[in-house]
Amino acid sequence: MTTYSKYIDIAIALPVYNTFTYRVPENFSSFISIGKRVLVPFGKRKVTGYILGSCEKTSRSEIEIKLILDILDENPLFPSSIVPFFRWISEYYIYPIGEVIKSALPGGLNLYEYAVISITENGKNVLKDNSVPPIQREILSSLESEACRQKNLCKIINKNIPNSLIQIMENLGLIISKRELKGGRTRPKLERHVSLTSSEISAKELSVQKKKIIDALKEEGELSVKKLKKLVPSAPGLIKSLENKGYISIIKKSVYRDPFGESIETDSAHILTKEQEQVISKVANSLNNGFSTFLLAGVTGSGKTEVYMQLAAEAIKKECNVIVLVPEIALISQMERRFRARFGECIAVLHSGLSAGERYDQWMRISSGEATIAIGARSAIFAPFDNIGIIIVDEEHDISYKQESGLRYNARDLAVVRAKLNNCVALIGSATPSIQSYYNVTINKFTELTLKKRIKKRPLPEVTIIDLRKIRDCRGVKKFISSELHEAIKKTLERKEQILLFLNRRGFASSPVCASCGKAIRCKNCDISLTFHKEANAYKCHYCGFTLASTSNCPTCGSAGIKLLGLGTEKIEAAVKSLFPNAKTARMDRDTTTRKGSVLKLLKGLRNRTIDILVGTQMIAKGHDFPNITLVGIICADLSLSLPDFRAGERTFQLLAQVSGRAGRGNVSGRVILQTFNPEHFSILSAKTQDFKTFYNKEIPFRKSLKYPPFSRMVQIKISGNDKEKTRQHALAVGNLCNTLKKNNKSFIKSIEVLGPIEAPLPRIAKQYRWQILLKSLRVRELHSLVHLMMFRNSSNFYKQKVKVVVDMDPFFMM
Ligand code: ADP
Ligand code: ZN
Ligand code: ZN
Repeated sequence: MTTYSKYIDIAIALPVYNTFTYRVPENFSSFISIGKRVLVPFGKRKVTGYILGSCEKTSRSEIEIKLILDILDENPLFPSSIVPFFRWISEYYIYPIGEVIKSALPGGLNLYEYAVISITENGKNVLKDNSVPPIQREILSSLESEACRQKNLCKIINKNIPNSLIQIMENLGLIISKRELKGGRTRPKLERHVSLTSSEISAKELSVQKKKIIDALKEEGELSVKKLKKLVPSAPGLIKSLENKGYISIIKKSVYRDPFGESIETDSAHILTKEQEQVISKVANSLNNGFSTFLLAGVTGSGKTEVYMQLAAEAIKKECNVIVLVPEIALISQMERRFRARFGECIAVLHSGLSAGERYDQWMRISSGEATIAIGARSAIFAPFDNIGIIIVDEEHDISYKQESGLRYNARDLAVVRAKLNNCVALIGSATPSIQSYYNVTINKFTELTLKKRIKKRPLPEVTIIDLRKIRDCRGVKKFISSELHEAIKKTLERKEQILLFLNRRGFASSPVCASCGKAIRCKNCDISLTFHKEANAYKCHYCGFTLASTSNCPTCGSAGIKLLGLGTEKIEAAVKSLFPNAKTARMDRDTTTRKGSVLKLLKGLRNRTIDILVGTQMIAKGHDFPNITLVGIICADLSLSLPDFRAGERTFQLLAQVSGRAGRGNVSGRVILQTFNPEHFSILSAKTQDFKTFYNKEIPFRKSLKYPPFSRMVQIKISGNDKEKTRQHALAVGNLCNTLKKNNKSFIKSIEVLGPIEAPLPRIAKQYRWQILLKSLRVRELHSLVHLMMFRNSSNFYKQKVKVVVDMDPFFMM
């Protein structure tokens, strides 16, 4: 939008599905550009909107088209090339476009209110001249006495000051506004470095310590004070006098800290293995060559990250930007560390662990072109790059790419969509690719790439399956720690190697039961058993957070005798501590990682070997690379197997194969002890060999015969409310609506299957009664039209007061 356009297309940050045309007043014209926010009148309100483009005048008369009131941003928040992506998302997920953009943008955007404005010399002169318009005059004279925040300025003058006026005055050089971010900026850490300035130093007059410093500098050229200090503890004091004598110079350099708070040594590219080389050359040939999607299936430890880094370097060589998606924060840190070591400063990071101010900073670094690589969790798919070369999705099978509230998108899917719209490459990688993605390979939508071998020919860990049914009748710890596992832990500790013990359930006892009436101790807000937590000394609900004192009696019969049945990571930790009192045991699950930095602390403990045994949930299963872990114990492999979800087998396979893959990544080969009640189940047998193709071939016939994805598309309608009867009634009514619309439309009769309404497998969470309807179809088009009919043509039947109705495209959480 370089030329002045009178009419602009605006998305409003409200639940409305259309975009709207507004007029631009002449004096704003030079400030208009796509990606800026504006303030517009909407009905009786003033709301935020986003400029999406210019547009033709509509049929309405000039007067009817309202004028925009203000421009809120100095610089665009997103490039014009991302607009089609926003529109696509809005249509596909049937979500208001303005809210799509709002979800995409970082929080903390209204920080401009905190900008401190002060008058310039020029401003002071102009004020004497008497030549400024009254409102500007008023602003300047108020600023003359004291600089203040824009927000407060409005109060002092008692007038609404449009942001654009501030911008205009700033452009005229009358004022300066300095943004002081509320969340605090992340300042680069500075480290002092020392180098020699003179080669002729008379060593005679130097003390021994000083001489040592000079010698070290002669050898290394330049050294950080931190390193010097290791050599000569008193160095920080000594270098001052050396500097005064003119022998050395001290400069400050910004260093990048890794997530552990340590500075990162730069690294250089590895010499590639044959396999890696082939993979990289295939993808590199496609860079700048239109849209394509590659699925990189590489066993754990096969060097996928090295492939990502070298391809990122290729893209940057071609002057393109790179997006790297990683499923969760702990893994982002690891990816960030490796990328920073290779690429240095050009990296921006986006994830929910950052403060609003930090996220805003990172966003603007991408938007301004300062950063060329964005690494982040699912929301990084919205990184405001203009020219993308490659979008990389690591651990593409991971379910945390699916957002489960608000805009319920799947970032893995959106990576492919954005690549298509940007005409670039999507590279999605995993050791355990999802059924969906591998299916896309078989129908030639994606191109398969494989890394079959681990780096340095390290073998995959040897997996031993233990039948838990055989020890079912044992007592105490022996019931869940088999003698084989016990023995293996002992041997591993003796060799001074590390151990992971995996159980995907936190707490101490997952099913406390009354010894006298036999009833489970349940949450009062949810239809779910409470879990006993020893550390918190209370029963807790994992869905709504409800807690019950540990001293409570049975809610049903009042008896005090409650049996703590069921396993959890706390119980495993306690068992391990009693069996191996000399080992350093720690636990990583949601309970031990609520504090910021706690995940990193645990990971650091693994790296520095201050932890011998780490017990944990799926948090320990993912992507980590710790070479000294040689034993992985899977306490009970079956927890996710019996869930009422068609992906239960897939999830189980992925989780087991991933956690097994943590073993033997260093020079000593690894071992896995997998305990299960279902030793013949194919999900478990294929996890034994980490062979996703065996799993795929066994799983795919089920999906086909039951017409589940990838052989169909699904939409789930989630209906919930706090009135049991009303919710049920409305669920039935929406079900009727579905069926009626289906009956009356030829194109739906054969193509759409309506399942439900049924009560959800978790029928009540946090006092909300839950129902669901599943719509299945071979194609997404019919599903979209049916949902459109309900939402837009029959909205009075589809929505109801006090009942929440949510549409979830491609649902994951089926409970
Ligand atoms: P994956 O992501 O496939 O699990 P990683 O990328 O973490 O595997 O690689 C495993 C280890 O091997 C890492 O420590 C990495 O630095 C190292 N590595 C990767 N590629 C090479 C290579 N070509 N030569 C030597 N070491 C490599
Ligand atoms: Zn009881
Ligand atoms: Zn609850």
